[in-house]
Amino acid sequence: AHVAEKAFLETKFQSSKTPLSEVIDLDHGDPTMYERYWQQMGDRTTVVIPGWKFISYFSDMRSLCWFLEPEFGNAVVRLHKLVGNAVTDDRYIVVGTGSTQLFQAVLYAVSPPNASEPISVVSAAPFYSSYPLITEFLKSGLYKWAGDAHKFKKDEPYIELVTSPNNPDGLSREAVVNQNQGTLIHDLAYYWPQYTSISSSPADHDIMLFTVSKSTGHAGTRLGWALVKNQEIAKKMTEFIVLSTIGVSKESQLRAAKILQVLSDSHEQRGSFKEGEAFFEHSYHLMVKRWKQLRDAVKKSKLFSLPEFHHGKCAFSGRTFASQPAFAWLKCEGETEDCESFLRDYKILTRSGKHFGESSKYVRISVLPRDEVFDQFTERLASITSPS
Ligand code: PMP
Repeated sequence: AHVAEKAFLETKFQSSKTPLSEVIDLDHGDPTMYERYWQQMGDRTTVVIPGWKFISYFSDMRSLCWFLEPEFGNAVVRLHKLVGNAVTDDRYIVVGTGSTQLFQAVLYAVSPPNASEPISVVSAAPFYSSYPLITEFLKSGLYKWAGDAHKFKKDEPYIELVTSPNNPDGLSREAVVNQNQGTLIHDLAYYWPQYTSISSSPADHDIMLFTVSKSTGHAGTRLGWALVKNQEIAKKMTEFIVLSTIGVSKESQLRAAKILQVLSDSHEQRGSFKEGEAFFEHSYHLMVKRWKQLRDAVKKSKLFSLPEFHHGKCAFSGRTFASQPAFAWLKCEGETEDCESFLRDYKILTRSGKHFGESSKYVRISVLPRDEVFDQFTERLASITSPS
C-alpha cells in the first residue's frame, strides 16, 4: 500500500523540486519565523540570571498582581504606548503563563460564582479552536461552551470572546451578540502592526488579552498579559493564577522584559540599530513577502481561495495596507469537501475548518514557520493543480 501511495503521490506531484517525503507541518501556529530576527539581534537580548536571584515567590507586594515583575509590567506599558494598540492607563496588568492561562483565569473571574446553571461562553465562528476545548476541559460548574455567537439567542447572561484580528481567518472583529447581558473578553493576540493596521484610537475594552507568542514570537517563554479595567475582576484573575500555579515564572518575565525592551529600543533608538532592524518594520516586510508568495501559489494552483482584506491606514506606521494575518484561512474550491485530508495527501499538515466551527472545505495554515518551510510549502501548493 505504501508503494502504491507513493506512486500515486508522485504522479500528482510531478512538477515540484521538493522531495515529497518531507512532511510540511503547518497545523500549529508555531512562530519560528521570528527566530532569525532575534538571532540577528545577537547578545542584545541575552539575560544572565545568577543562582541567588528570583528565589522568592513574590515580586511586588504592593501590586494587586503581586507576582508581576515590575520590569515586565513597565516593558508592557512602554510597548503599548509605542504601538498605540491598547490603553494601559488606569488598568491592572495581570501576567499569566501564556494568554492560555489568562483565558482560564478570566472565565473564572467573570462567571457568576453562585448561579444555578453554568454561564454560556460563545464566540463567532470561525473561532479559535482551543476555546471550546479549554472551556469544556474540566466540565466546570461555572461556565459552559455554547458555540457560535451568531446563533446565541437566549435572553440570559453570557460571555463573548472577541478575537481581533481573528484566529483562524484574520478578520477584524467586534462583538456580535446583540444583548446587554454579556461580558466581553477581547483576545488581541494578533493586534500588532506586522499583521494588521493599528487604529488611530487605542483599544479600550474592559478585558484585553495579549501574548508574547504572537507579538515577538517567543511562544516558548509562555508569557501573556491581561489589561483589566475592573479591580474585582483583576483580583479574581490573580486568585485563579495563585491557586493554579502560585504565580508565573520570574525567569520568563525577566527574559520577556528584556525582549520587549529591545523591541521598543529598535524603534526608539534607531541610531543603535541598522537600517531595517526596527522589529515591526522587519516583521511587517516578512509578512508582505509571505502573503505575496502565498497568493501567487494559490493563483497558480487554481484549486484554492483565500480571504481578501480591506485596506486600512495604520496609525503606527502611517502605511495603508491590507491585513496579512498569522494564519491563512484557505478554502478548497470545487468538489473537494475535506480540504485537510486533500492537503494531507500532499504531505501538507493543516487544521480542518471543522475545529473552528466551520466547514471542512476550509483549513487553517500557519504563515509563521521558518523561511525554508514556508518556501517549500508555497512551492508545493502551487504545484497542486488537479482536484482529488
Ligand atoms: N489566543 C489566540 C487567539 C491564539 O491564537 C493563541 C495562540 N495560538 C493564544 C490565545 C494562546 O497563546 P499563548 O501562547 O500565549 O498561550
